[in-house]
Amino acid sequence: MRVNYLRSTAMTKTYRIFDRRRLLFLLSLLLIAGFFATTLFGYFVSKQAIRTAIIGQNLPLTSSNIYSEIQKDLVRPVLISSTMAHDTFLREWVMQGEKDVGELARYLAEVKERYGAFSSFFVSEKSAIYYTGKGIMKHVVPTEPRDAWYYRVRNMKESYEINVDPDLANKDTLTIFINYRVFDFGGNYIGATGIGLTVDAVRHLIADYQQRYQRVIYFVNDQGHKVLFGSTTEEEIDMHTAPGLGVLVERILHEKSGFYQYEVNGDNYILNVNYLPELKWFLFVEQNEDMALAGIRRTLYINLAVSLAMTLLVLVLAHLTLDRYQNRIEEMATTDKLTSLLNRQVFIIFIKKLLAEYLRNPRPLSILFIDIDHFKAINDIHGHLVGDRTLSGIAQLLQNSLRQSDIAVRWGGEEFLVVLNDCDLDQAKCLAEKLRETIEQRRFEENGKFIALTVSIGISQYDGVELFEQTISRADAALYTAKNQGRNCVSTAPIIN
Ligand code: GH3
Ligand code: MG
Ligand code: MG
Repeated sequence: MRVNYLRSTAMTKTYRIFDRRRLLFLLSLLLIAGFFATTLFGYFVSKQAIRTAIIGQNLPLTSSNIYSEIQKDLVRPVLISSTMAHDTFLREWVMQGEKDVGELARYLAEVKERYGAFSSFFVSEKSAIYYTGKGIMKHVVPTEPRDAWYYRVRNMKESYEINVDPDLANKDTLTIFINYRVFDFGGNYIGATGIGLTVDAVRHLIADYQQRYQRVIYFVNDQGHKVLFGSTTEEEIDMHTAPGLGVLVERILHEKSGFYQYEVNGDNYILNVNYLPELKWFLFVEQNEDMALAGIRRTLYINLAVSLAMTLLVLVLAHLTLDRYQNRIEEMATTDKLTSLLNRQVFIIFIKKLLAEYLRNPRPLSILFIDIDHFKAINDIHGHLVGDRTLSGIAQLLQNSLRQSDIAVRWGGEEFLVVLNDCDLDQAKCLAEKLRETIEQRRFEENGKFIALTVSIGISQYDGVELFEQTISRADAALYTAKNQGRNCVSTAPIIN
C-alpha cells in the first residue's frame, strides 16, 4: 500500500513523462475528427448525388410520363371540342334559330358516344339554353353560381378553357370540361360547346404515380389554382395560399417551367414545373427531399454510431495500454531493478512526506545504515552474478523482517537504508542486532557451496530539528565506526540533545 502510494507520488512529482489525460483527449479528438469527417463527407456526397438525381432525372421523368399519359386523356377531348366548335351543322343550327332540339340532341349524343366522353353539351348565347345529348337540360342564369363558368367563357379571350367542375348532367360527378367558344360565320359569339370527361381515370393515374415514386403530382391552372390531383379528399385550393410554396407561385406562373425549392415545417421540397400549353395547365411534380434522403440518413446514423463505438473502443484500449505502460514506467522509475526495493530517488520524496507527518504527530524515527562486509571479496571469489543474487537475497531478507510502516531502500552498491517508523534508538538497536544475527546465520547456497555473509549497521535517531541528511550522515558515521570495530556489529550514533 505504502510503496504503491510512494510510487504514484514519485511519478506525479518527478517522473511523469506524458500527461495521460491530454493524450487521451487528443487521441479522441483525432479519432472523432477522422471518423466524423469521412462519414459526413460520404453523407454529403451521397446527398448531393441524390439531389442531382432528383433534379436531373426523377422529377423530369415523372413529369414527362405523366404528361404523355395526360395528353392521351386530355388533349384528344380538346381536339374533339374544337371540332364541335367549328362544326358547320352546329353553327347553322344555331343561326337558324335553334328549331329542332332533337336534331342537336342527336348530334351531341353521337359525339358523346363516338368519342367515349362522359357528357357533351352546347349552351346558346341567344336562348341561354343548356343542351345535352338528352335535349334541353336547363337555362343558364348569370346569378346562378353553377353557371358562372358559362359567363366566364363568354367573356374570355382564349378560344377554350379546361375546367374541373361537378357535372350537373351526371349526378355532380367531378368532371373535366373543355369549354370551347363557338362563333357564327360572321365571327359573332353564339355559345359554348364541348365535352366533359370524368377525372377518375386521371386521378387514379396521378395517385398511382404518387405512390410508386413517392412524389406529389398535381395540376395548377393559369390562375394559380390547384385543379387536378390524385387524392379525392383534397380540395381545389389557391396555390398562393400554400405554405412555403405560395410565395413562389407568381414566379412559377411567369416562368412557366423550371425547378424550385421550398421549405415547409423544416422539410425541404424540390418542385419541377412544366407548362402544358394544350391544357393551359401547369404540371407540378414535387418530392420531399428529406424523405428521399431518409435511407442515406439512416446509413449516416449507423456510421456515426459505429464511429463512436470504434472511438470508445480505441480509447478504452489506449487507456488500458497506457495504464499498463505507465505502471511499468512507474515501477521502473521507483524500483531498484536488482533487489526490487525502492530506489534512492523515491526515498527523497518519501522522507519529505514522513517529516511532514512527524511535524503533525511526532513519533520517534530511526534509521539503519546497512553495509555488507567484504562484499568485494564475494564478487571476486564467486563472480558478479553470484554477488547479484546474494544482494537480492539480503534485500528479500530485509523486506521480510520489517513492518509495513518501515521502508527499506537500496542506497547504492551493497548498502541499504532502513527507516523505522515509530521506533526509538533502543528499539532500533534491538532490531538491528536481530537483523545482523539473522544475516550472519543465514547461508546463501551457490553451486553447492555456502556463502557466509555479515553486515555492519550504523543507527541514528532523528532529533526532530536537524536536516534528515544529517540523520543519515550520523548513521553513516556510526556505520564507519562499526566497520572500524571489526565489522559484523551494530553501532549507534549518540542522540544529540
Ligand atoms: P567493506 O566491508 O569495507 O564494506 O568492504 P566491501 O568490499 O564491502 O566494500 P567496497 O566498498 O570496497 O566494495 C563494495 C563492492 O560491492 C564493490 C562492488 O564491486 C560491489 N558491488 C556494488 N554494487 C554491486 C552490484 O550491484 N552487484 C555486485 N555483484 N556487486 C556490487
Ligand atoms: Mg559499501
Ligand atoms: Mg561493504
